This record gives sequence, C-alpha cells and structure tokens, in this order.
Amino acid sequence: MKILLVDDSRAIAMVTTARLESYGHEVRHAINGQTAIDLFQAERFDLVLMDIEMPGMNGFETTTRIRALEGNEPWAWTPIIFVTATDSDTNLVTAIEAGGDDFISKSSPEGVLQAKMKAMSRIAALRSRLAQANGKLQDQANRDGLTGLLNRRAMDLRIDHLWELAIQHGSSFSLLMIDVDNFKKYNDHYGHQAGDECLCAVATCIDQVAEQVNRDQMVPGAFAARYGGEEFTMVLPEAAPGVHVGVALAVVESVAALNIPHDWNANWGKVTVSVGAACIAQAGGPVNLVFRAADELLYRAKESGRNRHEAN
Ligand code: GH3
Ligand code: MG
Ligand code: MG
Ligand code: MG
Repeated sequence: MKILLVDDSRAIAMVTTARLESYGHEVRHAINGQTAIDLFQAERFDLVLMDIEMPGMNGFETTTRIRALEGNEPWAWTPIIFVTATDSDTNLVTAIEAGGDDFISKSSPEGVLQAKMKAMSRIAALRSRLAQANGKLQDQANRDGLTGLLNRRAMDLRIDHLWELAIQHGSSFSLLMIDVDNFKKYNDHYGHQAGDECLCAVATCIDQVAEQVNRDQMVPGAFAARYGGEEFTMVLPEAAPGVHVGVALAVVESVAALNIPHDWNANWGKVTVSVGAACIAQAGGPVNLVFRAADELLYRAKESGRNRHEAN
C-alpha cells in the first residue's frame, strides 16, 4: 500500500516508517496537518496514518479537511487510522466523528499494527477494483452501444459546458450536423443488420476526421457523437473562422471514399452523407441557436442533391 504517515515527531515517524516498509508498504511522511493536506491533494494514497496531537492543526481537523476534499463519491474514500498516545474512549468517538475509520495506540504491540495493515490492504484492493469498475461503467454510460461514439446524453452535457466556455471567452462555436443519405432505402434493400454495420463504418470514419482535426491542432477538443438514428454531430469548439467548412468537406469526402455500395442512393451508387455546418462567430444566447442553424443548413444540403455540405 501507499501510506501517508502524518506525525509531528520525526523520531516516531522514522521508526514507524521503518516498520511499515518492512511489511512491504511505501510511506510518505507529513510533518504537520497542512503538509498532509497538500500531499493528499497531489498524490493518491491507500491509507492515512494520522497522529492526533500535533501543534497547529491537530489530527481531527486535518482529517475533517481531507474528507471535505474527497467529496461524496464512495470510491474516493481513503481509510484513515488515528495513531495516538492516549488510549481513551473520548478520543475514539471524536476520531470516528471526524471521519476516521479506526484507531490504534502508539503503545500497541507490533503485531497489532501489522494485522491492521493487512486488513487495510484488503480494503485498498477492494477500493481499486471498485474505482476501476466505476470508471468502466461511466465510460459505458457515455457511449452509444452500436457505434461506440459518444451518445446523445454525453454530447449534450459536453456541448452545454463548451457553449458556456465559448460565451465566457467571447469566442466562436461550430457544429456539424451529419445525416446519412437515403438510409431508409439502404435498410430496405440490404437489411437491418447490414444497416447497422454501415452505420458503424460511417461513425468510425467521422470519428477519425474529428481525431485528425485534433491531432493537427486545428481544433483541440473537436469530437464526434451519435445524435440519434443515422444522424451524427461533430463539435468544433472555438474553431477559427472558416475551419468548419473545411472539416465539413472532409467528412463528406471521407464517407464517400469508404465506397460502401448503395445502389438506391440516387446518382451516387454508394453510401454518402450530407452535412450542415454552422458557425456562430460569437457565442451567446441559448445553445439551441447553433443546432437550429446546423439543421437548416443540413436541410439545404439535402435539397440541393445530397453528398454535399452547406455552411454559413
Ligand atoms: P435522407 O437522405 O433524407 O436523410 O433520407 P433517409 O432515408 O436517410 O432518412 P429517413 O429519416 O427517412 O430514414 C432514416 C432511417 O435510418 C430510418 C431508420 O430505419 C434508419 N435507422 C435509424 N437508426 C438506425 C439503426 O440504429 N440501425 C439501422 N440499421 N437503421 C437505423
Ligand atoms: Mg504528535
Ligand atoms: Mg435523418
Ligand atoms: Mg438520412
């Protein structure tokens, strides 16, 4: 385990560190409460061993502050064990109230410390499995099951946030609405299964354009999402003027270059998309504005023959 040892006595800290290291743990020492808080914020620990009597901020107050840093997420809980010279029941009660998990006397035999460390190691392993599982779940909740792109919910959250930032910075905001052409006919003639595969291929292609735009530093933070059905979006936060036009063209051309046969897609003979690319030069007002603008441009792209983009 990685242990944060908080003790104002260097001598005690040295002895305890040596013991803990002999059990195979890694130890970082904080000489006072503030140093402990700073270290806790900078690094991740499996356990905190907290002295109670310290000049300035004592162990209870330090613990209360550390708990406040963790917020309410259960997997963020780091076990804290108080280590004290006096073995009184009042201390135990205060320790638990302050957010401590256990209590150990400085005079307890070495075996007790070792045993408690063993129990805490189990909790640490459990916590890390929980954190991993939670990370996975969170990622799944943000992804569309078919294409693996960000789903509508995650997209909305991100856009709301980025739109607010653009308003604060007085900067531009661009959104591409991307719609697969004559996709109903694709399903009708090639089947729903083939339709699903086609959507995945188109999604990957759009995602790669977004990644490319990111990599080239053209628009850091550019991302693609599945808006719903056969519709996708690409968000270009704070893109320089005109960039949205070039990216829209890249999306249209990249999808056409996949050469997925589609004999019922008008004159094209392959799967194509139409794109409405809206740029709001200075973000302001409700975010719906940008969606409405992109929708209108998409409609125009469809009206003027599909497999093309329209931009403002
Ligand atoms: P347009 O060029 O005007 O966009 O025509 P369209 O046929 O693409 O548009 P329309 O809205 O009429 O049809 C969209 C089709 O997309 C209908 C629906 O069956 C299909 N679709 C939506 N989601 C999925 C999906 O997850 N899988 C498959 N296979 N098809 C889907
Ligand atoms: Mg002390
Ligand atoms: Mg559609
Ligand atoms: Mg369509």
